[in-house]
Amino acid sequence: MTDLRTFIAGLPKVELHVHHVGSASPRIVAELAARHEGRSPVPADPQLLADYFAFRDFAHFIEVYLSVVDLIRDQEDVWILTHEVARELARQQVRYAELTVTPYSHVRRGIPAPAFCEAIEDARKRAAADFGIELRWCFDIPGEAGLPAAEETLRISLDERPDGLVSFGLGGPEIGVPRPQFKPYFDQARAAGLRSVPHAGETTGPQTVWDALRELGAERIGHGISAAEDSQLLAYLAERQIGMEVCPTSNVRTRAVARIEEHPLPRLIEAGLLVTINSDDPPMFGTTLDDEYAVAARLLDAGPAQVADLARNAVTASFLDPAGKQRISAEIDAYLAATRG
Ligand SMILES: [Zn+2]
Repeated sequence: MTDLRTFIAGLPKVELHVHHVGSASPRIVAELAARHEGRSPVPADPQLLADYFAFRDFAHFIEVYLSVVDLIRDQEDVWILTHEVARELARQQVRYAELTVTPYSHVRRGIPAPAFCEAIEDARKRAAADFGIELRWCFDIPGEAGLPAAEETLRISLDERPDGLVSFGLGGPEIGVPRPQFKPYFDQARAAGLRSVPHAGETTGPQTVWDALRELGAERIGHGISAAEDSQLLAYLAERQIGMEVCPTSNVRTRAVARIEEHPLPRLIEAGLLVTINSDDPPMFGTTLDDEYAVAARLLDAGPAQVADLARNAVTASFLDPAGKQRISAEIDAYLAATRG
């Protein structure tokens, strides 16, 4: 029997909640910074970058995040970021990932929407050929930028409609950004066939999750951990098997949860929810998807079989086609059987 950490490293996985810019590792940022040396405050030296990235607090995370957004200045930067993020996911045996992309931030900084979409699409196809990973996109509204950002994100989604686009999201802070105001945008996105995946119940209570479900037609919930405080909501989510995109380390880093030992993951599992494990902004939170599976296993006192169940949940909750789901599930089954052998 291999140890659990080794088991997780080899387990075929699906990642459903990871941000495009937030996935930029120091190695990727060094490459982007070198392209813009002297025109950015971000160091291009990998050692200096490791210090620059060392997580201090939430304000520091925002600062690092925005400085990386500022490094994405042309189509080539978008392509490099996307292709390299895919490489790092594939290294962790991620077979399929839905990346949350915020086109509004890049378009506002001067990359035209068609050029942006062309770059991510080209990188997506190359990543499939180079690393054997399938990428899909969730275009999300940066909630803090309000309704103009919602309008622009919807327009880009519907006008450009890149092949890999499967869902419409809502990110950024929850406090002071009520979900219901975004209903008209989600209505239009859903009418056009995009799936609804807003962040909700990360830093605010269960009402935000109810709002996401009732007002935005949420088919999966980004985070959603405060659902644990509302037994009616837990029953609702369990009955409909709404996918929950849980990102344990992120919740501690942003102080949504005080200590990892207090994380509500076990409660969500006990209530029968379709829980998936994800990494959110992994290098910026000092984590990886493998680390998040290890954290979840510890919280749940889980062995390989239950860890494999978490990976299967992500397959089930994904927007992959049935044949793709079947293929990855079979891979997970075969892997579990082989490690038991
Ligand atoms: Zn997120």
